Amino acid sequence: MRRLLSTAAVAALVFAAGSALAAPVAKPAPALTAATVTTQLPRSVRPIHYDLAFTPDAGKLTFTASVKITIEVVEPTATVTLQAADLTFAKAQIAGIGSATIKTDDEAQTASFTFDRPLARGRYVLAIDYAGKIYTQAAGLFALDYETEAGKKRALYTQFENSDARRFIPSWDEPFFKATYDVEATIPTGQMALGNMPIASTTDLGGGRSRVKFATSPKMSTYLLFFGLGEFERATVKAAGVDVGVVTKTGDTPKAQYALKAAADLLPWYNSYFGAPYPLPALDNIAAPGRSQFFSAMENWGAIFYFEYAMLLDPKISSQTDSQRVFTTVAHEMAHQWFGDLVTMAWWDDLWLNEGFASWMEGRATEHFHPEWNAALTAVGGREYAMSLDALKTTHPVVQHVETVEQASQAFDGITYQKGEAVIRMLESYVGAEAWRDGVRAYMKKHAHGNTVSDDLWREIETAAGKPITGIAHDFTLQPGVPLITVTDQTCADGKTTLTLAQSEFSKDLPGKTPLTWRVPVTVRSVDGGVAKTLVTGGKGSVTVAGCGPVIVNAGQSGYFRTVYGPTRFSGVVQSFARLPAIDQLGVMSDVWSLGLAGYQAPTDFLDLAQATPASADPQVLSRIAGVFETIDGYYEGMPAERAAFRKVALARLNPLLAQVGWPPKAGEPDTVAILRGELIGALGGMGDPDVLAEARRRFAADKTDPAAIPGPLRKVILTVVAQHADAATWDTIRAQAQAEKTPLVRAQLYSLLADAGDETLARRALELALSEEPGETLSSSMISSVAGSHPELAFAFALDHKDAVNGKVDSSSRTRFIPALGAASSDPAMADKIRAFAAANFAEGSRKDAEKSAAAVLNRVAIRQNRLPAITAWLARAAH
Ligand SMILES: [Zn+2]
Repeated sequence: MRRLLSTAAVAALVFAAGSALAAPVAKPAPALTAATVTTQLPRSVRPIHYDLAFTPDAGKLTFTASVKITIEVVEPTATVTLQAADLTFAKAQIAGIGSATIKTDDEAQTASFTFDRPLARGRYVLAIDYAGKIYTQAAGLFALDYETEAGKKRALYTQFENSDARRFIPSWDEPFFKATYDVEATIPTGQMALGNMPIASTTDLGGGRSRVKFATSPKMSTYLLFFGLGEFERATVKAAGVDVGVVTKTGDTPKAQYALKAAADLLPWYNSYFGAPYPLPALDNIAAPGRSQFFSAMENWGAIFYFEYAMLLDPKISSQTDSQRVFTTVAHEMAHQWFGDLVTMAWWDDLWLNEGFASWMEGRATEHFHPEWNAALTAVGGREYAMSLDALKTTHPVVQHVETVEQASQAFDGITYQKGEAVIRMLESYVGAEAWRDGVRAYMKKHAHGNTVSDDLWREIETAAGKPITGIAHDFTLQPGVPLITVTDQTCADGKTTLTLAQSEFSKDLPGKTPLTWRVPVTVRSVDGGVAKTLVTGGKGSVTVAGCGPVIVNAGQSGYFRTVYGPTRFSGVVQSFARLPAIDQLGVMSDVWSLGLAGYQAPTDFLDLAQATPASADPQVLSRIAGVFETIDGYYEGMPAERAAFRKVALARLNPLLAQVGWPPKAGEPDTVAILRGELIGALGGMGDPDVLAEARRRFAADKTDPAAIPGPLRKVILTVVAQHADAATWDTIRAQAQAEKTPLVRAQLYSLLADAGDETLARRALELALSEEPGETLSSSMISSVAGSHPELAFAFALDHKDAVNGKVDSSSRTRFIPALGAASSDPAMADKIRAFAAANFAEGSRKDAEKSAAAVLNRVAIRQNRLPAITAWLARAAH
């Protein structure tokens, strides 16, 4: 699954700090047997095969179904218990045994079928007739409505990860219970039905109805099942013998050509990397209008689901950032076809095996197919995000114990994804890319169609590499936290530099804590000399490298740790900063900013580096400067004099960069430059730069008559700047455009702009609009989140006043985090109490972790404003003289 974070949620996660929860240290996973895998179901029965026939009624938002489940009774029992949620049962029976008494448990999400006498060991077919609901948010079987020139349409899709297959099919809805599936649907004739497998037969039933039967699936987990139905069209190409396709609503396949080419390129490349050919006959990439608060795409086996903005490109509004998003999302979901679908984690404890791996693989694939995007630099940003979460009391190990459905849902976080990715990057660099790939191939071969725990992967990598790795892997995946490497001594003799290193722990909210110990692979590079590697063990290390002068620790940025150089050595790094490779500039800059905010060094060191960065630096480095400036600007909220002083410095640094890239896109320029242009316009516009604001408004006004006024790739950012500073008349203009727009992708964009208004009265109107019928079911929550980015108090209070209506616009898996995250961008300590009170009143005790992170984010902002801003303010005063 490709995770999605709202602005407010990002603020919550990145800046979260302080909570009473201690992060547990996980233990190595026991060897994988049925008895060691967590389950919420009795182990006496397991499924072998599902034979499902169902009839959706899209108009009434209901379906009826019958399923025949071939089961294996392992221990004699009179009761068969499986998972079911929101289903109503008509009848259940086993031929030769009789009908069952049916009992459902809403709290446990189970259904139990009890027979007159115990079932002996052996195989049976349990036949169940039942009915269920079609939802309006993306969980279970759900409907998405959209506008077309020919009127309103409705399409159906499913979303089952992590635990919503039970809303569609009574089942053993846990990843360990793999089974095969035959699926048959009765549908309106003329509509296209989509499943994991190609359609094997279609029968016209007359009366406008047809029955479609899909080919039998391979053995798979329930969360990967898929069904879709609507007025669709498909385009396909053959790649490595597989029908690779894109499916869109009618008329949109031209917008999916980029995704189709990416998928067709990636499939043979993955076949080769994994050493195992993609095992299904076809692979569809399916684009759907609308949104979810939780995810942008899902790796259903053979039928990958995407929301349109993550798969389609429309020249009217798509930017180079969008093309990158499409490619990396396709790469991520396709990597899951092996890591996740073919080989599946036994239980949610090892979710990172899916998500850390797919996140890492998407980067690898991007480096191969698009070297010009510098994906390795992007990965530094991902690592930074992981470390920002991992240096807090609220963190957890990459491998963590999960008990409940809600805890599984909360496990889809930056530790699972980005820390998992960073740890793989580090271990791959430690053993070498070829040994790593050979280990992955051996793992695929051994566990195809099965389930695994993390140690199954380490075992294969270690064998392939011929050197120990499990100890390092355990240090980084079974215990939480970020190692801190301090350079305690640096001496030069005979043209070689020797560094003495000490390992402690980087923490943002427990500065005096006793550090954990890691075995840390460290690479160093002398700015004017060579490269050397060492493994810091037991808290200490030393390394000698050719050359004298400044030495960069974590050269190439494959290590998962932060570095403190000490003031004298750091000034050497600043002086040679312009000569560092871009990836090390980015790594040093990221360390310095985080260490400064946490009090390990001066918070103004970042500003010195920003001034020392040449205008010719890599666009991603310059973009990082713009991003940190926006963060600092946010910390000055409500402090107009200080903010004005900061903006003067920030605009003076960023304006020449925008002048350098210019407003009009240039033919043949690198995508990274085009992306930087958009980011500079966004940052400068957000900070109220008068020239940028005037130019954005001029182009917006000219857009009515001059189609060249707003180039497609700049449309979103120009409109965002205009919307942030909109008056009532401008806001009404954008709303009128949204009402008239028939393309869902563009329409969604226009409604989200309305929620960007800085003016409080307009922000309030956006909230009211979000709960009305007008924007459509799945846009509401993202509008409310956007308002919360700049008006957290307003959005949080509004959500409390309209709790049921707001929850109705949020899918079930996001409910324990959505409303708490709305307050996360607040700078008022009272908001932390409000969030905690809300969680205590509304969520079970084990499901308050995300709310706790949002409350902590507020307190962290308060602390940074108190403790770090004064030094920055003083630096600004010095800079002004
Ligand atoms: Zn994923």
